[in-house]
Amino acid sequence: MAEWLDQKVEFVKGVGPQRAALLQTELSVFTFGDLLHYFPFRYEDKTKFYSIGEIHEGLGSVQVRGKIKSFQMVGTGKKRLVAMVADSTGILELVWFQGANYAIKKLEIGKEVIVYGKPSLFGTKLSVSHPEIESITEYKGASGFEPVYSLTERMRNSFFDNKALAKCIRTLLEHPEVKFTENLPVTLLKEYSLVSKTLAMRAIHFPADAQALKQALFRLKFEELFYIQIRMLLSREMRRKEWQGFQFNSSTRITEFYNHHLPFELTDAQKKVLREIYKDVNSGKQMNRLLQGDVGSGKTIVAFICMLMAIGVDTQACLMAPTEILATQHYQALRVFADKMNIGIALLTGSTKKRERDIIHAGLKANEVKIIIGTHALLEETVQFHQLGLAIVDEQHRFGVAQRARLWQKNEKIPPHVLVMTATPIPRTLAMTLYGDLDISVIDQLPQGRKPIKTLHRNERHRLQLFGFLRQQIELGRQVYIVYPLIEESEKVSLKDLMDGYESICRAFPEFATSIVHGKMTAEAKSYEMNRFLKNETKIMVATTVIEVGVNVPNATVMVIENAERFGLSQLHQLRGRVGRGGDQSYCVLMTADRLSQDSQVRIETMVRTTNGFEIADVDLKLRGPGDLSGTRQSGALELKLADLSEDALLIQQTRAAAGMLIENDPALRSADNACVRQHLMKYYKAQFDWAKIS
Ligand code: ADP
Ligand code: MG
Repeated sequence: MAEWLDQKVEFVKGVGPQRAALLQTELSVFTFGDLLHYFPFRYEDKTKFYSIGEIHEGLGSVQVRGKIKSFQMVGTGKKRLVAMVADSTGILELVWFQGANYAIKKLEIGKEVIVYGKPSLFGTKLSVSHPEIESITEYKGASGFEPVYSLTERMRNSFFDNKALAKCIRTLLEHPEVKFTENLPVTLLKEYSLVSKTLAMRAIHFPADAQALKQALFRLKFEELFYIQIRMLLSREMRRKEWQGFQFNSSTRITEFYNHHLPFELTDAQKKVLREIYKDVNSGKQMNRLLQGDVGSGKTIVAFICMLMAIGVDTQACLMAPTEILATQHYQALRVFADKMNIGIALLTGSTKKRERDIIHAGLKANEVKIIIGTHALLEETVQFHQLGLAIVDEQHRFGVAQRARLWQKNEKIPPHVLVMTATPIPRTLAMTLYGDLDISVIDQLPQGRKPIKTLHRNERHRLQLFGFLRQQIELGRQVYIVYPLIEESEKVSLKDLMDGYESICRAFPEFATSIVHGKMTAEAKSYEMNRFLKNETKIMVATTVIEVGVNVPNATVMVIENAERFGLSQLHQLRGRVGRGGDQSYCVLMTADRLSQDSQVRIETMVRTTNGFEIADVDLKLRGPGDLSGTRQSGALELKLADLSEDALLIQQTRAAAGMLIENDPALRSADNACVRQHLMKYYKAQFDWAKIS
């Protein structure tokens, strides 16, 4: 039973206290079950025998069967062992540089052996160094695919090698008491043709053939992704049940805004997401929604209209941004509307003075300040509301999940509705895994009249031409960004690059006022410079990536990115999104070195080819893996053992659908078929759920 699997790993035959200590410290393996869930990362195919005549270097590791023709120690000083093995089709050289004394014992002229190793070409001769070698009499028949586990140096040094580990696992799997509890409902096993847990667990370690391995992998990946989805959906379900939400059922403020102050027609996409949000905030349940929209798609106005929904029923709204510059800009943009509509609005950041801060705190408690915009400063205990109805978080990827949760706790009884906005185009499948506990709305359309940004790839040879182009644009009345990378480890060097660049710009364009913004400046100095640029007092903005997120200067039409090869794709896309925000043709110029690594080449080509954020995100995912797409990495949602977010997109969709159906039909997991799911969750995620509430 399950208890058997919970026994300490030291009691596995062949393990013992010393190896158990290694397993614990090196691989975090503590129990029988842990050991069996330590999966191989690749396999060696020993099902096939090659004849010596047909092997070549490109094959990777091969297995041959032949007779030892000769062997001898050669060389001076440190000698090596060289042996020749032959079959009817040819002859192959085997070499040992190390462990020759041990290997030589296995050799005997005329003895028939099985050899396994990776042939390499030396001149015209194929040679295998350090092959595995076994006499035909010891050979117990084709062993199928042999598992290769990832091991640490410390394990190898203690002679706890792959063979030893595989043996321990095999012993366990062959133990008469081994039994895995099936944790997927029978209906799912049938529907998706999944093999049983027991079968999969055996085959993942010791697959008989490629087909068996494929089935085992599919089943275990399915299980892994399915449980991620189930857990997210379940916590969403519990939250829904548990927490009622405000009802924003008055449309007076919104109508007033639409009729008198809305500066442009909303796009259909903006209208669509507003309808989705409106439905949520009137459902009587708390909203937790992710609003995804590419850079420039117009999320800010949507946020403001949502705030009006909250204010309509006399609750307050807050908007939290990741940087001071961004918070300030949101504040300036929204204040224009708020003032016209007589709505109290305030800005709270790290640099808000004590006196001003006190006034804001009081204004919030007295319900005079209806909209508060700010940075992390909003999370502080001292910030208290009369009644917070709506919490908006901009550019979510800069915030952790835990911070999001702190916003919910601002109210005692009814939690505020939560809207998370992000411009990071997350492929839909990935969004499901990352934000499975949120509902998702997408603004999939840019406002009309935008011309697609032209993207060009240039290098140092084009510098003069580039400057000529910049001058021309500025003379047309436009503004220009020039961005330098800032890499943390070498911040000083990059700062110097930036300063050198700034000086050369000032020399090249003495007639134009130029701004500079970088991370080493005080917040005050930064916003002073930002504002000068915003007001069109300066024509050129030389900056590091601090301007990456959200800054909105519609008159800026050129984005020059220096050392573009040093930026990641999503960062390039974000930077490019700073231009093309008005009606004028905009340009993005990627300056790089002449020679680029293959990955850099792909990134630059992708940028030149497309402006579609989702396409870019897909390429990015393939190049980088899902690594640090979001702060949720630390939340554990992404610690995948087998599944691969960039490869298993279809499976993610299938498991999401399966989990969704299951929770919808049987949210309390009461049916006999789903009992196994419930048991699994109770055993491994006891702490995550309030089980009293589920049953
Ligand atoms: P983002 O989604 O990147 O935050 P913003 O909200 O900053 O985008 O909007 C980008 C620009 O587009 C702003 O100047 C905004 O005023 C403008 N905008 C937003 N919605 C529309 C619309 N429906 N029609 C025209 N311009 C719009
Ligand atoms: Mg924005």
